[in-house]
Amino acid sequence: MSEKLERSRSAEMEGSEPQDLLGFVPAELVARLEAHFRSTGAPAYRAEQVRRWVYETGVPSIDGMTNLPASERELLQRSFTLTDPAEVTVSRSVDGTAKHLWRLADGELVESVLIPAGDRLTLCISSQAGCAMGCTFCATGWAGFSRQLSPGEIAAQFRASRRWAEANGYGPISNVVYMGMGEPLANREAVHTSLSVLNRGFGIGARRITVSTVGVVPGILELAARPEQFGLAISLHAPVPELRASLVPLEKRYPLPALMEAVRTFREGQGRRVTFEYTMIRGVNDAEELAPKLAELARSVRAFVNLIPYNPIPYKDWIPSTRERLERFRAVLDAAGVSAAVREPRGRDIDAACGQLRASALVQMEGSRPRRARMSVNAVSDAVPANLPEE
Ligand code: SAH
Ligand code: SF4
Repeated sequence: MSEKLERSRSAEMEGSEPQDLLGFVPAELVARLEAHFRSTGAPAYRAEQVRRWVYETGVPSIDGMTNLPASERELLQRSFTLTDPAEVTVSRSVDGTAKHLWRLADGELVESVLIPAGDRLTLCISSQAGCAMGCTFCATGWAGFSRQLSPGEIAAQFRASRRWAEANGYGPISNVVYMGMGEPLANREAVHTSLSVLNRGFGIGARRITVSTVGVVPGILELAARPEQFGLAISLHAPVPELRASLVPLEKRYPLPALMEAVRTFREGQGRRVTFEYTMIRGVNDAEELAPKLAELARSVRAFVNLIPYNPIPYKDWIPSTRERLERFRAVLDAAGVSAAVREPRGRDIDAACGQLRASALVQMEGSRPRRARMSVNAVSDAVPANLPEE
């Protein structure tokens, strides 16, 4: 780094609000730490020590960075923060799924879910408090959109969940999915930074990180432009425009042909994974004649298809498709050469669908009905794909 840049960074840090250590891509964090320690006259290796505390050791606060003298910790705290979200509740399912409800510094509530499956441990994280997309089958929406999460708030869910998982015998987190509350590609800047933190900071391989979107085309193209091979999940839910628009309002803004074009562009990158999520609602989007249409779309972009039994939410009298219908769809896809799986619900006994815990907490706090009943709460499907294919 040039001296000039370094000086400007130090100046920028002086007198400004302390910055979240998890809020920078790793190279930027190291550069800022180096500038900080140079400006305080501390040895250069302090930057590396702090980097390890942030990404590897996972200490909950700067105070816990015990290989730094107290005076240096104090100076560090003037320029930087490191805060874990507060654990409001943790619910454990009989199947091992563990769901956290976290409280952020301003009292906002977000959820994350740990899903053990075989030798994998998948963490499902939130990217927004609430969601503004208003999909008609999803629980997150009813409480409405509250605010964007910062990159550090997204990454902190990983850090706090990793510590909990280690303490409770779950082992290391192997995969991360952005399938908690919110639409990640409606919070792109923060999500892009957090992707780098997960990948280059916490060391989760890009192919083990999946961003799930309801179809924000410019966001998909941005993701396609990144060199890393992050996975992409498209919440499709219907293979024809009118039906899709009735479930996913964003269809009107980014219609299926444009969405498929963006997925094709994403797919052009070598080794990238695309999954279609299809929540099956009885009598709504599970007509037999839709299965070949879904197969055609999936085949055109070589997508893997997850068929997810709809998880009933309050204020909607829909029910999941029958087992037979789910299997029928799978068989049609299979016959068309499309890999597909029926996802078993996980953690149903603990409301593991993301959005549900926050929803009930809000009801308890406010004693009220949803503010926007039309928008359903983001139940990240209870079938968060713990075992996405890895090609
Ligand atoms: N906003 C992003 C990511 C969060 S939602 C997206 O929509 O992709 C994660 C997944 O949960 C999506 O595939 C969503 O369609 C699914 N989902 C939402 N509500 C559901 C419900 N009631 N039953 C089953 N799956 C649901
Ligand atoms: Fe938002 Fe839920 Fe739709 Fe995902 S499925 S975009 S979380 S309303």
